[in-house]
Order: sequence, then structure tokens, then C-alpha cells
Amino acid sequence: MGKVLDGAAIAAAIKEEVAEKVRGLAGQGIRPGLAAVLVGNLAASEIYVRSKVQTCADLGLYSELIRPPADITTEAMLDLVRGLNDRDEIDGILIQLPLPARVDTKALLDAVDPAKDVDGLHPVNAGRLMAGRPALTPCTPAGIIEILKRSGIPIAGQHAVVVGRSDIVGKPAALLLLHQNATVTICHSKTRDLGAVTRQAGILVAAIGRAGFITAEMVKPGATIIDVGMNRITGRAEFERFFAGDAKREAAFAKRGSVVMGDVDPKAFEVAGAYTPVPGGVGLLTIAMLMANTVRAAQMRRGL
Ligand code: NDP
Repeated sequence: MGKVLDGAAIAAAIKEEVAEKVRGLAGQGIRPGLAAVLVGNLAASEIYVRSKVQTCADLGLYSELIRPPADITTEAMLDLVRGLNDRDEIDGILIQLPLPARVDTKALLDAVDPAKDVDGLHPVNAGRLMAGRPALTPCTPAGIIEILKRSGIPIAGQHAVVVGRSDIVGKPAALLLLHQNATVTICHSKTRDLGAVTRQAGILVAAIGRAGFITAEMVKPGATIIDVGMNRITGRAEFERFFAGDAKREAAFAKRGSVVMGDVDPKAFEVAGAYTPVPGGVGLLTIAMLMANTVRAAQMRRGL
């Protein structure tokens, strides 16, 4: 069985460092501030945003939760974002995705001041990341690098295979690994013989969105697996396929009728050298990195 890379401990360490920086800035009369915009009432988005706002409070950041009416137009959302761009006490703007289909998500992400783009999704930040310049980088991929570094897993010279090429996870994760001198391969739904590629990986990042998709046969023995996926499984047969005999998950499944699992079949963790569990891995880093980005944005905007 591979070594568990403990997302909780790493996230706690990062949050403590952020709180320390916030205390330092307070001495200069600066309180980093995050505005979170949530449209609609998607249960998962609601939980994520509340947890982001709560973490701001825990670490001493200022935060605002903005909940426009569910039928808000793109134009009105653009006005709202421009208003936040102009407010000095707001250092970070977070637009919780997904937005309702009728809202033009790209137009909104492009309207966020790149200096306040704490999710790292503005094309200016994406371009800076591509060019290896200082940038606000997407939180989940930044968290992946923190997990690897703080767990003492060497990146330079390793073959890192990233499965998934989204703008939020796969692509920026691949670029960050490249900047750390990994040899990087990006895979996606059109990749031929995926297993032959993933079996070459010293570091395998799974960001697919399909429960247990990466099986033990697709993993090189001793590899480090970073499982980004967050999938809710509700079917008994699927549950049995992955978790038969796992008493803890069995109790959770019986209680809630579902469990959350990643993109990696738990049997693959038995071949791995190290892996991030789901839950308890990458997901916990995402909020920690959002806090770190907000403080960084506050510092950069003031030339600190
Ligand atoms: P997307 O749906 O945007 O991207 C999924 C990627 O997986 C696509 O590039 C797609 O390829 C690829 N893919 C789909 N099917 C296959 C296949 N059969 N073989 C190879 N590649 C495939 O998802 P996200 O990147 O936004 O998220 C990925 C996962 O990570 C999800 O489970 C999500 O919930 C989770 N997540 C977790 C976060 C956290 O904090 N832990 C944060 C963000 C996401 P193609 O481009 O060809 O369609």
C-alpha cells in the first residue's frame, strides 16, 4: 500500500502560514479581502463558498459573500464585477462556478481585474503562467505542487502524466509540473491506449471526473498518484466494486446513501508509492491556496 499524502496536515500548515502573513499585514494597516459571488443554489457550490468565507474568518481575512438574484443577467453580473474591481478593500474576486447556463461565464472571468483574479482563470494570468512569469495560479493545481513539495516527492526529471486538460485543473497542473522540471505528458478523452501512457508516470495526476477510472493496471508500481477527482457514487453495485469490505465507507454509505470518491480505483493505491486520498487530499488544499492567493494579491497590488 502506498504512503498516504495527508492533505489535511499540509492544508493546515499552509493556512497557518497565511494567518501569520495576515497578522504581519495587519501591522501595516492592511487586511486582505475576498469577495465571493454565488449565483443560484447549487448545493455543492453553496458548501464550497460557505467554507471559503468561513476560512477567511478563521485566518483573519476580510470577506464578503455576494448573492445576486438567480435570474441575474450577464450585463448586471459584469457591472457587479466591475464594482468589485474598483473597491480597494477587495483584493480577491471569486466567481463560484458553474454559473447558470444563460450567463456568459467567459465574459465574466475576463472582466475580473487580473490583479484580483485569485482563481487564476483570467487569460492574463493563464498567459503569465504559460510564460513562467509571476502569476496568480489556479488553486487546485497550485495545491498539487504544494503536496508534492511538502511531502518530499521529487518532481524534477520525473515523468508526470496528467489525465485531464481542463483550464481549471489539467492544463495549469501540467504547466506547473513543467516549471518544476518534470517531463510532462497531458492525456484526454482522445488519447489512444491511455494505460500505456499512464504506466510510464512517476507522478500520475488524475483530473477526469469519472469515479475509479484509473485502475491498478494503469499505474507503474511505486508511482505517486495525485487524485483530483471528486465523484459522488450512489449505486450499491458501484459502491461494492470499489469499497467491498471497507467498514468505514460502508457506515458512511449506509448513513447518507452515497460516498465521495476520486478518479482512482482504491486498488491502484496498493501499487502506488504514495497517493492522495479522496476525501482528505487535494480538495483540502484548494481552499488553503485560495487564501494564499488572496494574501498574495493583496501584497502584489500594494507592491509589497
Ligand atoms: P472537466 O470535465 O472540465 O475535464 C475533464 C477532463 O478529463 C477532460 O480534459 C476530458 O478530456 C478528460 N477525460 C474525460 N474522460 C476521459 C477518458 N475516458 N479518458 C481520458 N480523459 C478523459 O473536469 P475538471 O478538470 O473541472 O475536474 C476534474 C475532476 O476534478 C472532477 O471530478 C472534479 O470534481 C474534480 N475537481 C476537484 C477539485 C478539488 O478541489 N479537489 C477542484 C476542481 C475539480 P477531453 O478534454 O478530451 O474532454
